[in-house]
Amino acid sequence: MAEKDYIQGATGPWEVVIGMEVHAQVTSKAKLFSGAATAFGAEPNHQVSLVDAAMPGMLPVINRYCVEQAVRTGLGLKAQINLHSVFDRKNYFYADLPQGYQISQYKQPIVGAGKLILDMPDGSTREIGITRLHLEQDAGKSLHDQSPRESFIDLNRSGVALMEIVSEPDMRNAEEAGLYLKKLRTILRYLGTCDGNMEEGSMRADVNVSVRRPGEPFGTRCEIKNVNSVRFVQQAIEYEARRQIEILEDGGKIDQETRLFDTSKGITRSMRSKEEAHDYRYFPDPDLLPLELDPAWVEQIRKSLPELPDEKKARFIEKLGLSPYDASVLVAEKESADFYEAVAKGRDGKLCANWVITEYFGALNKSGKSMAEFTITPEKLGGLIDLIADNTISNRLAKDVFALMVETGKDAATIVEEKGMKQVTDTGAIEKVIDEVMAANADKVAEYRAGKEKLFGFFVGQTMKASGGKANPAAVNELLKKKLAG
Ligand code: ADP
Ligand code: MG
Repeated sequence: MAEKDYIQGATGPWEVVIGMEVHAQVTSKAKLFSGAATAFGAEPNHQVSLVDAAMPGMLPVINRYCVEQAVRTGLGLKAQINLHSVFDRKNYFYADLPQGYQISQYKQPIVGAGKLILDMPDGSTREIGITRLHLEQDAGKSLHDQSPRESFIDLNRSGVALMEIVSEPDMRNAEEAGLYLKKLRTILRYLGTCDGNMEEGSMRADVNVSVRRPGEPFGTRCEIKNVNSVRFVQQAIEYEARRQIEILEDGGKIDQETRLFDTSKGITRSMRSKEEAHDYRYFPDPDLLPLELDPAWVEQIRKSLPELPDEKKARFIEKLGLSPYDASVLVAEKESADFYEAVAKGRDGKLCANWVITEYFGALNKSGKSMAEFTITPEKLGGLIDLIADNTISNRLAKDVFALMVETGKDAATIVEEKGMKQVTDTGAIEKVIDEVMAANADKVAEYRAGKEKLFGFFVGQTMKASGGKANPAAVNELLKKKLAG
């Protein structure tokens, strides 16, 4: 832990400790224990079966597909898969929880310890421990903002399958917490087990924060519930760490409690004191048998996993010569990685990465379009890069061609042809331009020859300008040196 990562308080440095519990909604058309639909945005209470509404005598039936997704996710997190796991009832009263308990897993979750690799901006990596992953039902939703007099309950979410993914308290600042959440989302999307859509509530984070003096044991933590964006997670941590440091420096102590992040004010507020596990009186759900997995089935799932971001990144570094940073940017979304690979096929990996990351992503963001809608296809970008590679156009001019490609939808070769943008490599033609530039700037030529060598750049600029940007820069440099030498 580098010293710069500590927060300086009034009485010395503090270290922040963070662990996260992420609720990820399983991509499944049906709920965890009923056949009701899960699609986002349906009319309130239109996707509720008798099981989800907790009608007396209804029995839960486990959805095999959801179990498979939990196993896939566990394997993607390089985690232990528990062939024997148990569903427990977590008992609490809430208006949007008609059963009076949530079916969850407690002591014997389906997935045990695993790990997740953070890709730091400087190209290094950091490993964060995954404690466990368990399956549980979501609750319904209370709506307090529809009417001044009444609250409403929407049970559409009731019974939807969630994976709760718990990390070890291994993160040390808001940046790492943000990277953790993004990397987890990337892995879930590659696996296809959760769409990772935080705006629609498919992924929510409970953020546990404590502070301590460097080298001391962990301090008391507060848990910030249900934070629904990477930015809010980071803001909540920054605020919460400062709040705890102030209390401790004033001689106070931290109460272990559950807090809420107020997104409009950027502060955390106390919600309730932390409940303990015994408050929930967990016990095995008598309606469900323990879940026993066939090892051959788990193996089959393991074999069907796609290439995951860490492996893809390693391949891009080793086989295509990319820097760790560039590789991690490209693999962050499967769609970008696929796009890049299509461009780089049979071309220079590094050159293609530069074009995809800087020019292509830049133009894509500006367009506000999705990759599928955007006019630049891998074939078109590849065509442009071919013209750079065979010296038809300079890298500099290629940027203008690219801008025209975005604007007109035409391919690079057509634009270069139409605009006469072919690079001039014919030394005779370049020499002619240089002669004109030197004649027009005889005084500067004399100064250069008298020793003012920094004028060289001026001559390069003038020559490029006079050639309309088309002269081959390497040839210009070489010929200028020769001619200026006299
Ligand atoms: P609970 O289920 O009561 O919330 P857990 O022991 O399962 O408690 O821990 C929940 C989360 O809190 C985990 O992500 C863990 O890494 C994190 N955590 C535990 N101790 C600390 C601490 N001292 N500071 C920050 N995070 C912590
Ligand atoms: Mg918790």
